[in-house]
Amino acid sequence: MKYVKLPKENLDAFVENLKTHGKVYGPVKIGEYYSFQEINNSKEMSLEYSRTMIPPKKFFLKLKERLFTFNEEKGEYKETLEEEKIVVFGIHPCDINALKLMDKIYIDETPDKYYKMRRENAVIVGYGCHPDEYCFCHSLGTNYAADGFDLFLHELKDGFFVRVGSDKGNAIVSEISELIKDVEGSDIEEFRAAERKREKEYTLELNIRGITDMLALAYESEVWKEYADKCFGCGSCNLVCPTCRCYDVVDNVNLNLKSGERLRRLDSCMLRKHGLVAGGLNFRPTRIERLRNRFNCKGSLREDTLNCVGCGRCTVYCPSQIDYVEVLKKVRGEL
Ligand code: SF4
Ligand code: SF4
Repeated sequence: MKYVKLPKENLDAFVENLKTHGKVYGPVKIGEYYSFQEINNSKEMSLEYSRTMIPPKKFFLKLKERLFTFNEEKGEYKETLEEEKIVVFGIHPCDINALKLMDKIYIDETPDKYYKMRRENAVIVGYGCHPDEYCFCHSLGTNYAADGFDLFLHELKDGFFVRVGSDKGNAIVSEISELIKDVEGSDIEEFRAAERKREKEYTLELNIRGITDMLALAYESEVWKEYADKCFGCGSCNLVCPTCRCYDVVDNVNLNLKSGERLRRLDSCMLRKHGLVAGGLNFRPTRIERLRNRFNCKGSLREDTLNCVGCGRCTVYCPSQIDYVEVLKKVRGEL
């Protein structure tokens, strides 16, 4: 890994350079929420943000997209892959780790050309954060991004300690050589001290040791009924989760039965119709089953990684104030 320093006064010039790599998106405050929006300069960003409501997965897995159109009479089949280049500035470590999990699924395991193309067309600029009372990423080891980014900025008093994580990142750093400096011993010490301080800022803990077993053993637990009675079945927890990725595919065929389109849209396992299959059978007809399924999915292992990065969004944005960590503590018998 290569390390350089970006002085604070050069941040805007750095963002200007990034614009040559695509549309730049950064965290912007909208009312009381944060959202990744297109920005023109660094002053439009709120880099001190806690979390965006919708995670950066929105750039790679669209809420709804047309995959192709067809017209048999004209012998046409058109795919609708767009080639937009983007830069996503200010992604926190938990969200970078969530993208790494998505990459395993959508690039390594079952390659998805739409997802892969968007990932290849994106520059990822990470940004160091401070936990609030809902963050438990340190319990999951996702509070630090060791890789999965092109550049990662850690704030120092007079600049940013920049980790260069890819060839793409290296090329950008070469282009802005007049804006950056070599790191000095004092910068390294400041970076280390800030990381030590940050480790101590976490107030929420979740014991994940053996969580898969704990969930399996709690299959018949009353916990599911207790929380299912509160759950509205709205699906917000899926929408805001950086690792939820279920989608549905719908064919819209025109009345002539010769032309139409295929759409893909994100789905939610918390919605009643998610389990509805041909013949009207619903394999998860009750809220208890849907809630339990979501927790089991998040608590299952993909290789050695859980399907949760501890971002806290599902707790923060649940309209029924169902606390994700509290549920799992009850599952473990700790509460
Ligand atoms: S399950 Fe909740 S805390 Fe875990 S990654 Fe998803 S939204 Fe974040
Ligand atoms: S956000 Fe809360 S209320 Fe809505 S489905 Fe998820 S757990 Fe239920």
